[in-house]
Order: sequence, then C-alpha cells, then structure tokens
Amino acid sequence: MVDNKLIDDNHRGRRRRPRAMEERGQDILPTKVNLFRRGLHVDVYHPLCGEDYETQTHIFLDCMVAKEVWAKSPFRLSTSDRLQKNFEEWCFHLCDILDDEVRGLFFTLLWMIWSSRNRRVFEEKRWNTLTMINYSVDYWRILLEALEKKGGKSMPTQGNKETWEPPPAGVVKVNTDASSVNKEVRGLGVVIRDHRGGLVASACTTMKGSWDVVTSEACAVRFGMKIARSLGFDHVMFETDSKQVVHALNCTTYKADYSSTFVKDCHHLANDFSSAKLMVTMRSCNQAAHKLAKLAYGIDGTRVWIDGGPCEIMTSVWADKACINLR
Ligand SMILES: [Zn+2]
Repeated sequence: MVDNKLIDDNHRGRRRRPRAMEERGQDILPTKVNLFRRGLHVDVYHPLCGEDYETQTHIFLDCMVAKEVWAKSPFRLSTSDRLQKNFEEWCFHLCDILDDEVRGLFFTLLWMIWSSRNRRVFEEKRWNTLTMINYSVDYWRILLEALEKKGGKSMPTQGNKETWEPPPAGVVKVNTDASSVNKEVRGLGVVIRDHRGGLVASACTTMKGSWDVVTSEACAVRFGMKIARSLGFDHVMFETDSKQVVHALNCTTYKADYSSTFVKDCHHLANDFSSAKLMVTMRSCNQAAHKLAKLAYGIDGTRVWIDGGPCEIMTSVWADKACINLR
C-alpha cells in the first residue's frame, strides 16, 4: 500500500505558476495513486509494468513503456536524462521550447500513452510502442492538414518544386547553413537525412569571424563535410542555399578572397568520400539547417546529435518528410 504522507510530501514543494501554465501539467488524472488518495481501495501499482506506483510522473516519464515511446518518437527524448523532477515541470519545460505545430504532436503522444494505459486497464489489451508512435504521428498529421485547410493554405503537393528533395537510397543528404547574430560570431548548422527524410544526424557549432555571407556559407559546407566524414558516411550529397558557394566549389580556380580558404578545404575533404555531390537549393527547402545554425548561439562549442536532433528543428524535418510522403 502506498504511504499517503509520502505522496503529499512530493507535492508540497511545487512552485506557484500562473493558472493557465499550472493547468498544463496538473495532477488531475485518475491515476491509481490519485484514486487511492481520494479514498478508493485500489492496487496503486501501474498496470502496464506493475513495477512502481502509478503517478503521472511514472506513467508519462519513468515507466519503461513511456521511456521507449519518447526515445523512439520523432522527439528522440531520453526522459531519464531530464533535469526536471516531475511530470509537471517536464511538461511545462517542453511546452515552452516547442513551437505550436510540434506541441500538437507532443500532446498527441501524451494522450496516446494515457490511452494505452486505459486500454490495458479496461480492455486488457496492449499496444506496442511503435504502434502508439505511428498512430500519434498519423493523428497529428491529420490535425495539421485540417488546420492548414481551415487557414486557407494547402499542404505541398506533387509537382511543387519548393520542397526538400530526398537523396537516392544509399546516399545521405547533408544540408548546411550559416547564421550571423552579431558581427564577430557565425552559427553553423548541419542536418543529415536519408532517402526517406529520416534524420540520421545533425550538428551545430559557432565560429569566431566577421565573415561575409559567402564565406560563412562555405565554412558551413566545410563543417558539414567534417561531420559527415567523422560519422563514416561515404556516399553523400551536400546542399546549401548559397549559389555563390556552389559556383566557387564547382570551379577549379580560386578567387583571391577569404572564402577561398574554406573552398580549398572543401575540395580537399570531398576527396575522402567515395561520392560527393554539391547542390544548391532554395532557402525555403533548407529550413532545418537554417534553424540549427541559429540555435548554435545558445549551445556551448560543437554539438552533434546521432539519430536525431534538437526539438527546435523537428517541425522542419517532419514537414520535409511529409512532403515526400505526399508525392
Ligand atoms: Zn509502468
């Protein structure tokens, strides 16, 4: 049996927040522990795993089922590494860093985890975690399409060239971009995806230098080449939204300017791949790398994500992926 005093102590130190924020993660679900606290004589263990008391934090974060859902979901989250103590704090934090569209998927996954628990309790049936994730992403896409239609916009369709093009199977595409928030520092972003639009890796860094746009973009391509090489990719397509950089990289002669330093480095690095192709794209098709280049300013040094990326770029990654599926 659960100790009522222990549960109350867990809830005593909560910070006061505005009402709307408080409601996001409030402990109002009829979990087994909450039912017990209301005087019902129920088994307080979580029915999905039977390993711990069924609190909100256990259901959505600490249960092995929840951990697997978040780890395999497009968010690629490790709830074990979280800094927040409980579900309320964690939910509050995620709501703040996700943009409106992606927040929809976040809540759909929460709803799916709760539905899966109810299915177990009331129907004695189980969903596997991949089914839960696939259902959530499908529901979320239907919601997005409905919202787009309501707003008078339509999803990108076949024949629309202004969408990210996936590489052929067996090849990865490396999108790169540079950003400048101040005169002295440039942010560089790299997004590596497969032929299905799946995120295989991403990286960002900052470089000190008051370079012009072309030099910064060339530096971003060089960073992309270094990351792709270090992760062992051998057949690679590089994509930037700078026509000048692609032109410079396709030339065999060098201009007498600073960007040539990076162009020479790129030529040298390209020899390390079995195949390396360079392409130009529109800025609208390079959004994931663009967001990552901007995000670089808030991150210390170089950061590499294997098999994923930060939440902030996921809307762009999924939108690009959705465009492939709609073709
Ligand atoms: Zn559990």
